Amino acid sequence: MSNCELCKNPGGELIWQDAFCRVVLVDDLDYPGFCRVILNRHVKEMSDLNMAERERLMTVVFVVEQVLREIMQPEKINLASLGNMTPHVHWHVIPRFRQDKTFPNPIWGRSRRETVSLSLDADTARRLKSRLQSALG
Ligand SMILES: [Zn+2]
Repeated sequence: MSNCELCKNPGGELIWQDAFCRVVLVDDLDYPGFCRVILNRHVKEMSDLNMAERERLMTVVFVVEQVLREIMQPEKINLASLGNMTPHVHWHVIPRFRQDKTFPNPIWGRSRRETVSLSLDADTARRLKSRLQSALG
């Protein structure tokens, strides 16, 4: 477990956490506002969680989705749970914009255009973090 990257590090800029899971902001210039909801302990699949835990995790995911919609007005939110390389079940919550690098493909898909830096401006980042923290309590 000591070799696990997500046990040693938050996996992004830590915005909020409790004993169960955490929300981090991913530093990705191509996908501003990209957040991850990461389970703190080692659980591989959603179906390894009990019903209450599934609901608890998804409640956090949907709060993040809602706040991203409110603050960033994306064209679409992409939710994804892949996690092939880590034992921590986690959800990617990705605001998508028509001008982003791969839209309308998945972000892991083929690039559609040169990267226009969409980086999160300081004020939006601040509002996003503070809104997430108050919504998650
Ligand atoms: Zn770990």
